[in-house]
Amino acid sequence: MSNLDLRPAPTLCGGRADVTARPVRELLPGKQVPLGESTVVRRLLPNLGRRMVGAWCFVDAYGPDDIAQEPGMQVPPHPHMGLQTVSWLHAGEVLHRDSLGSLQTIRPRELGLMTSGRAISHSEESPREHAPILHGAQLWVALPDGHRHVEPTWEHHPELPEIAGGHGLRATVILGELDGAASPGTAFTPIVGADITLAAGTDARLPVQPDFEYAALTMSGEAEVDGVRLSPGSLLYLGCGRTELPLRADVDSAFMLLGGEPFEEKLVMWWNFVGRSGDEIAEARRAWQAGERFGTVRGYDGAPLRAPELPATPLKPRGRER
Ligand code: MN
Repeated sequence: MSNLDLRPAPTLCGGRADVTARPVRELLPGKQVPLGESTVVRRLLPNLGRRMVGAWCFVDAYGPDDIAQEPGMQVPPHPHMGLQTVSWLHAGEVLHRDSLGSLQTIRPRELGLMTSGRAISHSEESPREHAPILHGAQLWVALPDGHRHVEPTWEHHPELPEIAGGHGLRATVILGELDGAASPGTAFTPIVGADITLAAGTDARLPVQPDFEYAALTMSGEAEVDGVRLSPGSLLYLGCGRTELPLRADVDSAFMLLGGEPFEEKLVMWWNFVGRSGDEIAEARRAWQAGERFGTVRGYDGAPLRAPELPATPLKPRGRER
């Protein structure tokens, strides 16, 4: 997925200043953002109140949308650097193409994990013949300095570890580790992404790590996370310092648990790039516009995305204030 804002604001993120060391329950509203011609997504991160949760730096949730009579998702070729993209579906399918030559249909509960490293480009589309309902999330994970220049890779993991927590709780580990179960997806920082299903009547406690910060993104139903009832469309930031997370549900519910060690490095995020300085971002933009460095996506029916204009004010990472 791409940030399709015509005038995207630079986001300065990372560092400890924004991390809440103790457990909190901070409900962050999503913002409706049009994505292409027929999709509207809810952007949960970055948010006015919060930019990152661990290394998670971008969260878009979409659907459930009835696309039976629509083209569905159509995101033309666009570049990425300095991040990983995580594609996760509850319904429908997304056809991924990238500049490495990958061509993969991602289906519900399969991990599509793209490590951009120094440079990659990709497109995402609903296949011409598609399921009527599209429902999922697109997330980005910032790469740490030591790994952000790695060669780009694409991973597709249809089989992911499941945890049966008892009392109606089931968890699929998408990325990183949860309660001793580890995803096969390559992670570069201590992190977790999990899809958690609560059957009606669930009353459970999920073991978590006190040195991680966490947030919960509701996908369906009305999960009650640490006493807060979540309806789909918002993100509950939970802070750090927990050893377990109380979970309840009166109706069948599902949410994504996102967490990780607070990300220490200062980042500049602009459009589809994560860098460390304004100059680096400007150079990436120049290279994409010139058709350099990011390769070519073959087979997408349409022109690549043009980069938006850079903002007039220079992009500089700095200590952030809230
Ligand atoms: Mn993308």
